[in-house]
This record gives sequence, C-alpha cells and structure tokens, in this order.
Amino acid sequence: MPKFLLVLIVLLAFSSSTTATTADPAWDGTLRRIRVPILMYHYVSELPADADDIRKGLTVVPPLFHAHMQYLSDAGFTPISLYELNAALTIGVPLPPKPIVLTLDDGYIDAYTNVFPILRQYGFTGTFFIITARADAKDPAYISWAQIKEMSDAGMSMEPHTKDHVDLRERDHDFLIYQMKGSIESLTAFTGRIPRMFSYPVGHYDPAVLTVADELNIDIAVSTASGDLQTTSGRLHLPRVRVLGNMSVAALASVLRSP
Ligand SMILES: [Zn+2]
Repeated sequence: MPKFLLVLIVLLAFSSSTTATTADPAWDGTLRRIRVPILMYHYVSELPADADDIRKGLTVVPPLFHAHMQYLSDAGFTPISLYELNAALTIGVPLPPKPIVLTLDDGYIDAYTNVFPILRQYGFTGTFFIITARADAKDPAYISWAQIKEMSDAGMSMEPHTKDHVDLRERDHDFLIYQMKGSIESLTAFTGRIPRMFSYPVGHYDPAVLTVADELNIDIAVSTASGDLQTTSGRLHLPRVRVLGNMSVAALASVLRSP
C-alpha cells in the first residue's frame, strides 16, 4: 500500500473516532470496505392507466418482484438488515454468504399489501423507509401506523424517510431536526423501537444534513448514488443499486454479478 494512503487512513480513523463514539455498536476504529448491494425499490404494484415515465421507472409489478426474490433465493443471496451491515462495518461481525439489503422507499400501501407477504414467503427481511406525515394523515395511498407496527413486529426494519419527503439541502438546523428527528420519534412511538437508519428524500443531502444525522446517532443513511461498495467512513451516505421498473430477472442478475 502506498505510504500516503496509509497516512490518509490513519488520519481518517483519528478524525472520525470522536463522532462515532455514540453509534451503536461502538466503532472499534477499523475502517472496513465490504461489497454489499443495497437494492432500492419504490412501488411494487400494477401500473395505473395514466402512469407517466417517472412512475413507470419507479414501479415493479408484483409478479416481477416475486421473480426477483425467487432469483435471489435460487442464487444463494441472503437478505440482511442495515443493522447487520452496520455491525459488519463497525466491529467486523461476519456477514452470511452473498449478503444483500432490500430497501423500499416511501412506504406506499403496496409495501404492506404486496411486498410484505412476498418477503415473508421467502423468509427475507426488508428495510422500509417511511414518510411519517403520510401515516399521520391516514393517507390511503400509504401504509398506516398499525401496518407499520405489524411489519416491525414481524422483523421488518421500519425506518425514517423524513416527515414530509422534502429536499433537505440548504435548510436551517431547526428544520432538519423537525424533519429528521420528528420522523424518528414518530416511528419510535408507534413501533416501540428506536430506528437508527435513514434515507434522504431523493438522495439529497449537504454537510448540515450529515451533521444532524450524526447528532441524531443515525448509524447508516442511504443515498441514491449508484454502487455497492460499503465503507465504515461512508456510513452516512451509502450508495444503492436502483431497481428500475422494467428490470428483468436477467438484468438484475447481471447487475449483481458485475463488480
Ligand atoms: Zn423517497
């Protein structure tokens, strides 16, 4: 390893150690890099007749989602939670063979009606990022607090995606606390578990957002940047693999094979 890289790593380890001490589990000071694809889904539903290109891109129809899960099962992938990934990155807890994380953003009603039963059928765990004000408003297009609690009790990770799904960049501290801590507190109140993961709306964040994420003891936050190399130092902006609506099983398999 070139000497400057070694120096950089030592410097990074030193500078980050002061902020990571409150994370759970406490970081042991070793920087790790692990290849774990974090798949990013949105809608798993039939397409409405008036769907535009954006909705089409975000929508995987249920039979295709089922086929994706069948492929992951057949190919020996093991869906894990972000808590397991965090333990691997912070204290080196070994991961199962071919680990993969299944994330579903926004908490649409189909997360309960379509995704939840399929994941249970395979014994897979999923991570669902919830826009908590939609549940507060009892919006029928989104999952309810009772459904969120049921999924949490069944072993799914129900995690915050802000209260209102707004762009978090260039906001003041109070606004970030309201959106980020507010969604964490709502999930804590309704599930009885303190969520420690986070997803930035549309993947957007800036340095102030990262500071608040750290203040709130968030262990892992995911962005929409593309990639599967997960690092200890990048835990507040881990990349994901976007699953497009028309992604066939063969295309998914190809994405997961490429380095
Ligand atoms: Zn979103």
